[in-house]
Amino acid sequence: MADVPIPAITDNQVLVKIKKTAVCGTDIHIYNWDAWAQKTIKTPQIIGHEFVGDVVEVGKQVRNIKVGQLVSGEGHIVCGSCRHCITGHPHLCRQTVGIGVNMDGVFSEYAAIPADNIWICDRSISEDVLSVQDPLGNAVHTALSFNVLGEDVLITGAGPIGLMSVPIIKRAGARHVVVTDINPKRLEMAKELGATAVVDVSKEKLSDIMKTLPGMQEGFDVGLEMSGSSSAFTDMTNAMANGGKIAVLGILPSETPVDWNKFIFNSLTMKGIYGRQMYDTWYRMTALLQAGLEAEVAKVITHRFNYQDFQEAFELMRSGECGKVILNWA
Ligand code: NAD
Ligand code: ZN
Repeated sequence: MADVPIPAITDNQVLVKIKKTAVCGTDIHIYNWDAWAQKTIKTPQIIGHEFVGDVVEVGKQVRNIKVGQLVSGEGHIVCGSCRHCITGHPHLCRQTVGIGVNMDGVFSEYAAIPADNIWICDRSISEDVLSVQDPLGNAVHTALSFNVLGEDVLITGAGPIGLMSVPIIKRAGARHVVVTDINPKRLEMAKELGATAVVDVSKEKLSDIMKTLPGMQEGFDVGLEMSGSSSAFTDMTNAMANGGKIAVLGILPSETPVDWNKFIFNSLTMKGIYGRQMYDTWYRMTALLQAGLEAEVAKVITHRFNYQDFQEAFELMRSGECGKVILNWA
C-alpha cells in the first residue's frame, strides 16, 4: 500500500472516485507474484480491475458521461482500429490491454479510465453487485455462448464465475445443470443457486451422478469449463453427448491433454472465451440483473473488507473458502 498522486486524466478519460472493488483470481496471481505475474506486470503499478465508483471529472473530448454518474467499466482496452474492432468484434482485438494488468488499475481511491470503457450503472442495483460485473460478464458471455434451452449443462468449477453461471444457465432454460468442484463449501453454494446436482470429484464420480438424472441419455449437451483444471477438462470431454458444445473460460495449462478421438468421432465443438463481448454482454447483464439476477449474484458475494485490510482479503481469496470478496473504499 502506497501514497500516490491522484492520476491526471487525458482528454478521452474520466476520473472515477472508487467506492467498491472486487478481488479477481488475476489479482491473486499478482499477489502470489507467480511466473506469469513476474513476466507481465511492470512495477510499480496499481492492480485491480473490478470496480464501481462515481465520476468526478471528465476529459475534454468526453461527451456521453457526466460528473456524478455511478459507473463501472470494461477491463479490456482495445485498439479501435484493427479489423475486429471496426467490424464490431472488439473482444477479438489482438492489441487488447488490461486495466490493472498492463496499466494502472482500480485498487486505489481514484482511477483514470478511458471513456470508451465506462459502463454507466443502474443505481437501483446494489453497489456490491455492480462492482462484480466484470466476472459476471465472463459468466454471461460463456453461459450464453450456446443455446441451452431444454439442454443438459455441465459446469466444471464452482469458483465465483462458475457459481454465477448457474442462475444464468437456469434462466436460459436448461434442464439439468450439474456443477463439479473439489471444494464442498462452493458446491453447497452451487446447490443453493439452483444446480440440479453437484459433484465433489475428489470423492464421487461424475458418471455415477449422471445415471441419476432423469432423461439424460448420452451425456451433456453443453459444457462450461470454469475451473482451469486439466482433469476437469478431461472429465468434461468424457461426459459430453455426441455433438456436444464446450465453452472454455478456465485458463487451462497449455500442456493439457486433449482426447482428440472424442472431439472428432463424437463431433464435439469447443469455443475459447476471453473476457466479455463489448458491449453486448454488458447490455444483457444489466437486463438480467434488473430482471432479478441481482439477488442470485448477491449470494455469491460472501465477504467484505476495508481496503486497508486488503491482505486479509487476498489471503481469503487464496484459500478458496469464499465466493466473491469486496474491498470498500468509500
Ligand atoms: P477460481 O479459481 O476461483 O475457481 C476455480 C474452481 O475450480 C475452484 O473452486 C476450484 O476448487 C475448482 N476446481 C479445481 N480443480 C477442479 C476439478 N478437477 N474439477 C472441478 N473443479 C475444480 O476461478 P474463477 O474466478 O471462478 O474463474 C474461473 C476460471 O476462469 C479460472 O481458471 C480463471 O483463471 C478463468 N478466467 C478466465 C477469463 C477469460 O477471459 N478467459 C476471465 C476470468 C477468469
Ligand atoms: Zn483492435
